[in-house]
Amino acid sequence: MADTQKIVAQGAVQGGSAEPVSSEQALTRINRDLEEKSARERAGQLKLPYIDVAGFPTNPDILHTLPVEEARAGVLMPFYKVGKSLRIAVADPASPETQRVIASLQAAGFAVELSLASAAGIADAQKLYASDQYQLKVEAPQNNLEDQNIQYEKELEDTTELKKQLEELPAEEGLNLLHVSAIKAGASDIHYEPEEKICRMRFRIDGILRPVFEISQETYKRLANQLKYKAGMKLNITSEPQDGRFSFLINSRKIDVRVSSIPLEYGESFVCRILDSGKKFGSFEELGFSGHSLKVLTDASNLAQGMVLVTGPTGSGKTTTLYVLLTMFNQPDSKVITLEDPIEYHLLGVTQSQINEKRGYTFSSGLRAVLRHDPDVVMIGEIRDLETAEVAVQAALTGHVLLSTLHTNSAIETVVRLTTMGVSPVMVAPALSILTAQRLVRRLCATCAQSAPTTAEERGVLEKSLQQITAVDPSAVVPIPEQLLAAKGCVECNGLGFRGQMVIVEVLHFDDELRQGILDGKSAAQLTAIARTKGMLSMADDGMLKVIAGQTTIAEVQRVTTT
Ligand SMILES: [Zn+2]
Repeated sequence: MADTQKIVAQGAVQGGSAEPVSSEQALTRINRDLEEKSARERAGQLKLPYIDVAGFPTNPDILHTLPVEEARAGVLMPFYKVGKSLRIAVADPASPETQRVIASLQAAGFAVELSLASAAGIADAQKLYASDQYQLKVEAPQNNLEDQNIQYEKELEDTTELKKQLEELPAEEGLNLLHVSAIKAGASDIHYEPEEKICRMRFRIDGILRPVFEISQETYKRLANQLKYKAGMKLNITSEPQDGRFSFLINSRKIDVRVSSIPLEYGESFVCRILDSGKKFGSFEELGFSGHSLKVLTDASNLAQGMVLVTGPTGSGKTTTLYVLLTMFNQPDSKVITLEDPIEYHLLGVTQSQINEKRGYTFSSGLRAVLRHDPDVVMIGEIRDLETAEVAVQAALTGHVLLSTLHTNSAIETVVRLTTMGVSPVMVAPALSILTAQRLVRRLCATCAQSAPTTAEERGVLEKSLQQITAVDPSAVVPIPEQLLAAKGCVECNGLGFRGQMVIVEVLHFDDELRQGILDGKSAAQLTAIARTKGMLSMADDGMLKVIAGQTTIAEVQRVTTT
């Protein structure tokens, strides 16, 4: 976690959570922006480099150079250190107290270089002194790389170091370093956003984009060329969108990178999606499934045939749910085959086949071929067209369990989607076994979440949800707590107040009554009403139960459920 924090610490200030902002908070933010602006101007007048020190990913180890009392007395903050050379953010270099503290550092043998920052920024940055990472030293990173010893990891002291290395290293090494650091940070995507003089680099972590650092146009160009070369994209084409991919190994773990580019005014913008084939999947419980949805999905392993479809928009965690299902079906006595584009994760004991649309190996043609391979369970990455949908439905009706995903907003909408694609209701009704629709909400950081009295407005939202839940499943109903947990922000969570994600989900389990409903041409609303009598909670209601349980916030649930 410590390393992750260093890499993403800028998100603490600039990442921007989706929480609604009160006018008071907005005012504070505006004041703060003004203060940073004036610090920037003052830096120009004093010919000192400006630093947004609160947003700077300072390595907590550096703080050992100066006690917190001295940092406060001198209104300054050490933020970067190489050997005996120390960079310090100061608010007023002319202040006698500041000069006294600097002199004491120089007396201790440090070559001090000054940058100018706002006093508020320095006060914010000094909070790092209170962090566990400063108090307890560095703990192991939380992700899968934790027990792996990679030379790069040692070299990556913080993002400043990374940025510096990117500027100095040959492009190939620089790019590797960038990818390893993204994996360490738990990033799913790397974004390159070139502007006139610089290129902004951002990582997507837990579904939210966070600024990491800026590189010079020159460095950007070198990296971009190398990236395109590696991904098999045409180097001489810069004015058209391109796609490419490549993979590399980290200690025998294969990492796939899918690259896409679009032309912008100051160069091509790239988004690199990182697929870590060695990723381990949690259980349904760990992903956030509970109650009725947990039971239906766990029981799915008893299915002999039928379709299990996981739906939701991009980034809603569909693939992970699908893989947990696959893991469940992956038994010695059953043959499991997947058709994927791309193969995101490798599963032992599962036959995984890569789609190649350019060569005519599509989901529908692949599925026909796979069915001749005598599988018990087939997973196809996505149902996008009628042809694939029809073969999939037939497979589900002829003794196979078929798993797939669809881009629909709700569980019931999937029925409508399949029939409007052109699959006959007579086929759809008996083929469907389980439909799930899901979204990801961020989990409140367990370290810093703060309880506050439940407001009348919050109570209203929760009461409305609980009324609906009572109608569906009285056993799930819980009292509204007097206090609710809210996001605060600490060093552990990069100041965001959230750490990790969990699903909120609605799960529809088909039975004869629902199937008859489809055959009778009942509307989505009517089918939903029937499903609710069988225990299906809506995604929002599932989310509100998680709010009451103190796992997330009302705003998070509303962020992903209101479209
Ligand atoms: Zn926290």
